Amino acid sequence: MKNRFDSFHSYTNSYKIKMRYSQSLIPTLKETPAEAEVVSHRLLLRAGFIRKLSAGVYSYLPLGLAAVRKVEQIVREEMNRAGAQELLMPMVQPADLWRETGRYEKYGPELLRFRDRHDRESCLGPTHEEVITDLARREIRSYRDLPKNLYQIQTKFRDEIRPRFGLMRGREFIMKDAYSFDVDDTQAGVAYQRMYEAYQRIFSRCGLEFRAVDADTGTIGGNFSHEFMVLADTGEDTLVICSSCDYASNIEKAAIAASDADESPLLELEKVETPGKRKVAAVCDFMEIKPSELVKTLVFLADGNPVAVLVRGDREVQAVKLKNLLGAVEVEMADDKQVYEATGVPTGYLGPVNIKIKLLVDQEVAGMKNFVIGANEKNYHLKNVNMGRDFEPSAVADLRQITRDDPCPICGAGLGLKEGIEVGHIFKLGTGYSQAMEAFFQDSDGQEKPMVMGCYGIGVSRIVAAAIEQNHDDNGMIFPMPLAPMQVILLNLGISDEHITATAESLYQELLNKGVEILLDDRDERPGSKFKDADLLGIPLRITVGKRLTKDGVVELRQRRDGTTEELTPEQVSARVLDLIAAKMISE
Ligand SMILES: [Zn+2]
Repeated sequence: MKNRFDSFHSYTNSYKIKMRYSQSLIPTLKETPAEAEVVSHRLLLRAGFIRKLSAGVYSYLPLGLAAVRKVEQIVREEMNRAGAQELLMPMVQPADLWRETGRYEKYGPELLRFRDRHDRESCLGPTHEEVITDLARREIRSYRDLPKNLYQIQTKFRDEIRPRFGLMRGREFIMKDAYSFDVDDTQAGVAYQRMYEAYQRIFSRCGLEFRAVDADTGTIGGNFSHEFMVLADTGEDTLVICSSCDYASNIEKAAIAASDADESPLLELEKVETPGKRKVAAVCDFMEIKPSELVKTLVFLADGNPVAVLVRGDREVQAVKLKNLLGAVEVEMADDKQVYEATGVPTGYLGPVNIKIKLLVDQEVAGMKNFVIGANEKNYHLKNVNMGRDFEPSAVADLRQITRDDPCPICGAGLGLKEGIEVGHIFKLGTGYSQAMEAFFQDSDGQEKPMVMGCYGIGVSRIVAAAIEQNHDDNGMIFPMPLAPMQVILLNLGISDEHITATAESLYQELLNKGVEILLDDRDERPGSKFKDADLLGIPLRITVGKRLTKDGVVELRQRRDGTTEELTPEQVSARVLDLIAAKMISE
């Protein structure tokens, strides 16, 4: 009789991914679901990997979960290798903890807040800085207890207003979040670098094409961060990548090198009638100038307060740069009515001379001479305007969005723009959380000091979606070997043929015995629909046992990615499969 330990043990041993298609829940769809806008969402639904429960909330079906587990395994191995320790924190968090950092109010409606039966305010964790810092201040007393790096792999909830794109931007998602605690900034930098390297290994081992980029720190705060982006045409973020050096940045943060100032002599200020000319193009046509000789005055609301920003006529303001400069939570463009209420000037004729609201100037404009800009009066513009002589700004800063025509801020070479999907984000947090929550330790000099923190996230379920966005064709998904739910799909095309079935079954057993993860398609279906499903599921290797076995004694081995096929005797198959798997796996 087995004791409990024995049965647990045999269970874990048998948790190797193997399936018989006829007994599995793999509800593939022939039609493309109408609600799916991006390819990963369409294919995950069509291949029966996920099913929607409610907006942005999905069940992971067996194959979908198998792919998620592959990501988790790689993440776990690399986190453990980097010296981090796994724990698991609660999903339901008390509001009082979030009040200590001010984030209960600041976080916005993405934080799902509710009351329990005792009327205690709570929230569903979108992230765990407060919970982990609370743990650290209770359990870590001395510099001898540091450093620590603690991580978990857990379901998070963010109440997105418009969840879409399936696993790309759900409300509920699986994430790895890690938090480091150190005695000082130097040691925190070491921890950060160690995570940076661990992330490089994680995404390499996933078999994905990715870049680490300088990033905005967003609402989480902090002073330094990198995003890890999977490159894909359908990415939500735009990356700026240097053609020559290692420079790569999110376009939101891409720094622009200050250009040389125009040294032309100042010309006399002139007021010009521009009847009905409100848009840049119309003013330029009318005055026979280029958009680069004109300056736009744009009004934004930063946490509700109006602020004017000057940028060259052919440039765009980068709202994230503006938000960071102002330290605002939210920045949005003001509409015509709001502009008029704030300045008393109709949109299109606004300018800096005697403007009534806070005025910020992009550094490029600060170097311009004798430009054209609105006169703060309907139907008029000013010519030969100069900063310093005609107006004084509150601040000059890098506020515009970089373009592919700008030089690399590091080396001056050309830039390229690429689309990317954010799958990881690491932050050097500093002492913001530990100060706010009094997470202090006693240092070797006897002083009480705040712990220096870092936090490190990976979107585990999002990686599965990003892998599909990067790897697919018209017929379905094409999983990189390390993330594939299983490595091999074995098609039995002669269910009622004794010889074919016996060969398929013995190959299945043989491959299982050699540790290969395998799906045996033992359904009584036409070959055409088995081939279609095999392509859709994106399993890297397909073995077909059919008529060629009876005729010529061979089976077919096909690679999903490039369609390479080879004919082998059943005896040759397993050695060849093991070779191909080994070649496609990036080892630990
Ligand atoms: Zn460069």
